[in-house]
Amino acid sequence: MKLETKLSMKLQNKIALITGGGRGIGRAIGLKFASEGAQVILAARSLDQVKQAASEVSRATAARVLPLVCDVSEVASVEWLFKSVKEYFGRGPDIMVNNAGIAESAPLIKTDDEHWQRHLAVNLSGTFYCMRAALPEMIELGWGRIINVASIAGKTGGPYIAAYSASKHGVLGLTRSAALEVAAKGITVNAICPGYVDTEMTTRGIENITKKTRLSADEAMDSIKKMSPQNRIIEPEEVASLALLLASDEGRGINGQAINVDGGTVMF
Ligand code: NDP
Repeated sequence: MKLETKLSMKLQNKIALITGGGRGIGRAIGLKFASEGAQVILAARSLDQVKQAASEVSRATAARVLPLVCDVSEVASVEWLFKSVKEYFGRGPDIMVNNAGIAESAPLIKTDDEHWQRHLAVNLSGTFYCMRAALPEMIELGWGRIINVASIAGKTGGPYIAAYSASKHGVLGLTRSAALEVAAKGITVNAICPGYVDTEMTTRGIENITKKTRLSADEAMDSIKKMSPQNRIIEPEEVASLALLLASDEGRGINGQAINVDGGTVMF
């Protein structure tokens, strides 16, 4: 029975590095991957959160889970992250999930330089730095998976999210170009585009709506749910399930795609 369970695991012997792994979608992906046999690194800026998430994932799955502190917007911090992974596991990640992200809102004419640069630095440059660091070893090995957590805001615009939306559109361009560069090398590069997901990011968005409008928190949540034809928000585990497909051998034919998990809000 034990042997059967092991053989059916989809990510046995794989090392998966997940940025933004301290909570929300990143933590859910870590849990899903570890339960399929992967060794997992959860990286984010808050040591307490990555440590807590790593011990919870490890306890739930018995997998090796390493918490590491990294600010993906700092190239030196990303270099340190990859050095640490190599020291600990003896090699770099087979699966790189670029999930770390920030989302703040402001009218375009009130979007100051710091707000603009912060979104590009974390959401777009952070993804680029990690892809650039992860790909050489994947190319050498002839196998690899890059999964970028973008957003449906990477496909459509929206009021008050110019910096966020622009950074996520950038992630899709990066994904598609890289996918073509490495397509013949056993590597796939894809993006996941969630709609609203039940995480702290959405909770903060709701707080912001209640501050800036007359809506209560419940009304703000209802208005968010109504954006989806399913009249609900997405659970982090639903995003993790798609990430698992993209990370597995079964997903090897999916390359250069930006797949929505949004209940049908956006249909391209
Ligand atoms: P959360 O805010 O709950 O989690 C974000 C994670 O990213 C945290 O672990 C955070 O930890 C980490 N992070 C933020 N900045 C950095 C940084 N500079 N370096 C390293 N880690 C960082 O958000 P979600 O889980 O909801 O979001 C995950 C991804 O999904 C993001 O890219 C987001 O844009 C995307 N997304 C989310 C949607 C939603 O509705 N929630 C919808 C569509 C897309 P710390 O602050 O400690 O660094």
